[in-house]
Amino acid sequence: MSITNNIKEILSKIPETVTLVAVSKTKPNEAILAAYHAGQRIFGENKVQELVAKYESLPKDIEWHMIGHLQSNKVKYIAPFVHLIHGIDSLKLLVEVNKQALLNHRIINVLLQVFIAQEETKFGFSEEEIIDVLNSEKFKQLTNIEVVGLMGMATNTDNEQQIRNEFKSLRLLFEQLKISNFKFPISNFQSQILSMGMSCDYKIAIEEGATMIRVGSSIFGGR
Ligand SMILES: *Cc1c(COP(=O)(O)O)cnc(C)c1O
Repeated sequence: MSITNNIKEILSKIPETVTLVAVSKTKPNEAILAAYHAGQRIFGENKVQELVAKYESLPKDIEWHMIGHLQSNKVKYIAPFVHLIHGIDSLKLLVEVNKQALLNHRIINVLLQVFIAQEETKFGFSEEEIIDVLNSEKFKQLTNIEVVGLMGMATNTDNEQQIRNEFKSLRLLFEQLKISNFKFPISNFQSQILSMGMSCDYKIAIEEGATMIRVGSSIFGGR
């Protein structure tokens, strides 16, 4: 299957309300352009250097998402152009993104990564930490960031029920935050985007309420 056909196939299977992020990490510009010419405009990368190089050499109407673990000292390189940062996992990182957003005279949209997997290797906040961060005085001062939702990764397992349960728990938190934000609004927070699901589990993620999926190998082939 070609990249064009893969994209068409995925778009035909997902609801219109779900946003597809094409994860192009490690793939060359030609592959990204093939997806671009098929109409795809949202791409995700997980390495700052690669993201910057691709931003500089590819069409400017692409929305670049940073989906991987982000180090504070590298935020400055992507702050001028990044559309959405998915993997925010500390208050320190939020503070740095806010600082760089201010320097670039813009507001940067971010998602808070929630740790839902039963694995040591995945980054993210616990549910309690998310609630603490959002309600902290420090957070309210970060007026150049907008937290627009949550992101999570399920355990890498064949156990479909486990994956489903992990997505369910993230969805529940997402809905709870939506309700509490309706009652007690926080100016730089909205529970609007739920980013969960990759090639192996995006169908389950959508069934469990994902509004954004991050799909790489099913579009571009294995890495
Ligand atoms: C690589 C990656 C994806 C896409 O993975 P595929 O299995 O290729 O679809 C999604 N999310 C994150 C955070 C990733 O690093």
